[in-house]
Amino acid sequence: MTLDAAWATRWMTLTREAVGANREYLIELDRQIGDGDHGENLDRGFAQVVEALEDTPAESVQDVLKIAAKTLMSTVGGAAGPLYGTAFLRAAKVASPDPLSAQGALALVSAALEGIQARGKAERGEKTMVDAWGPALDAAKEEAEAGKDACEVLKAAALGAAEGAAATEGIKATKGRASYLGERSIGHLDPGAVSSSIILAQAFEATKEV
Ligand code: ADP
Ligand code: MG
Repeated sequence: MTLDAAWATRWMTLTREAVGANREYLIELDRQIGDGDHGENLDRGFAQVVEALEDTPAESVQDVLKIAAKTLMSTVGGAAGPLYGTAFLRAAKVASPDPLSAQGALALVSAALEGIQARGKAERGEKTMVDAWGPALDAAKEEAEAGKDACEVLKAAALGAAEGAAATEGIKATKGRASYLGERSIGHLDPGAVSSSIILAQAFEATKEV
């Protein structure tokens, strides 16, 4: 599939479904090391994104990402709203008007990570969503440099994010609400890293549709 507006719209629809299906799981993860609102916030946010896209069908990848950014910024509370909002806004800025190439898909992941770090000031290894987006970028870069196509770049990003999210279990949180727990945050997955891996998994899933 070409990575055009239809792909990006489908990415948001699938994300809405996956976040909805994982709502309770994300709430439970956030209950363990945060305040338990992550699943609810994201569920509401992505439902609104899909509604916004139904009201105003987007004509480019950039438009989809802009609408997602604006909607997430205004409807998702907590830390995650502004972080994901900035991620999608930065990704929108680098999205080309043409369907994404492998380099274009890589640029999107890279810009999203930059946005998250510009906003939250977290480095890798602090048990945040950066620990999903960082490995996603590494894996995506490897595929793009090996000459793979855009779908393979997104597949690698999704796998990298999943591995990164799984590895947050062993990390002590030093940023965000979970950092208040110190050592006691070890042994739990970071909810934002898990939701990030869900979002990136859907970016790849959306490429499978005809
Ligand atoms: P809150 O902590 O305000 O309740 P959420 O529950 O919506 O916000 O989101 C929590 C997630 O946000 C964490 O699991 C973590 O991944 C992410 N997060 C928190 N602070 C930062 C930060 N400074 N940089 C990157 N990600 C962060
Ligand atoms: Mg929370």
